[in-house]
Amino acid sequence: MIRYFLALCALWLASLSAAPAPRPKNIILLIGDGMGLTQVTAGMYANGKKLNLDRFPITGLMKTQSASHLITDSAAGATAFSCGCKTYNGAIGMTRSRKPCLTILEQAKQNGLATGLVATSSITHATPASFIAHVESRADMEDIALFFTQTELDFLVGGGLKYFNKRSKDQRNLYQELQQKGCQVYNFQEKPLQKLQPDPKYPFAWFSALGEPDSVKAGRDYLPLAAKMATEHLSKRSDKGFFLMLEGSQIDWACHGKDGPRAVAEMLDFDQAIGQILAFAEADGQTLVIVTADHETGGMVLEQGEGFEVLDLEFNTGQHTASLVPVFAYGPGAEHFGGVIDNTDIYRQMAMLWGYVTEPVVGN
Ligand code: MG
Ligand code: ZN
Repeated sequence: MIRYFLALCALWLASLSAAPAPRPKNIILLIGDGMGLTQVTAGMYANGKKLNLDRFPITGLMKTQSASHLITDSAAGATAFSCGCKTYNGAIGMTRSRKPCLTILEQAKQNGLATGLVATSSITHATPASFIAHVESRADMEDIALFFTQTELDFLVGGGLKYFNKRSKDQRNLYQELQQKGCQVYNFQEKPLQKLQPDPKYPFAWFSALGEPDSVKAGRDYLPLAAKMATEHLSKRSDKGFFLMLEGSQIDWACHGKDGPRAVAEMLDFDQAIGQILAFAEADGQTLVIVTADHETGGMVLEQGEGFEVLDLEFNTGQHTASLVPVFAYGPGAEHFGGVIDNTDIYRQMAMLWGYVTEPVVGN
């Protein structure tokens, strides 16, 4: 009896001393656009059977359907991540009833955290746009650019300069407006990213192209460097932490074009950026890193080629598919991203970890 009582006391004491579940100070969401399991597998075999993705302790599978379609586009996919609501294909930060939805980036900003967006597409393209803009159609690039003057990012790297400084809808020069607001703004015509050292006292932006940046096979090389610079810069911008979304945008474009070697090159470029992010997170210890995709593109098939590293990649379609996509998570809170989840759970879990929501978000 006494032994039983002592055991109960021990249990009670253990429950008192159990540390609360750790919450991340920083969250980094990495999106491989179009990155299904086969894109990951192809990158892995092309790279000597290993990727930085192998180092993530938690993995899951994610459902990607949108409110309007079994097969999502990147706008509805990214809005599910940024706002936690299922919406119609083409919507940027808007609910299915065409009302703006608050994004995790905007919430982080309101709570005093630093924020950043990095992409290998134009920064106004569907995936990055869905974290900062609210428009009914992803095609309205100039309207999307206006939101970058309303919500100040601490770190921006991507293409799309012409939507800022060569606007056809109005005569505004948003590039100059960002400069006037105190942002360190540069573009590829002045200096490559390698030549720049952001001053942590001010926000930083670098535009990599007038419109869409080159493919990695055509010489684009800034993504891994931008990943490293973003973490260094953002961690100095706020004591409260930061939110960063970084996208490997062109895995999707290579697969639309049914170009296997280009898809592998884009996948490995994205994985190098993931390596830079993991190095920061491992040293920091307070950073949650989530890697996932908005959808698979191309119905990619990996067939037997020459040996292990010369791959025969085939495509079933030039469009997106509805396959489940992989999720990888590392750091405090990573356990919430395992199992089979929905794309809206990415927002919900991030927002719950940061205390922005207490209830699951219901699609509206
Ligand atoms: Mg994209
Ligand atoms: Zn696509």
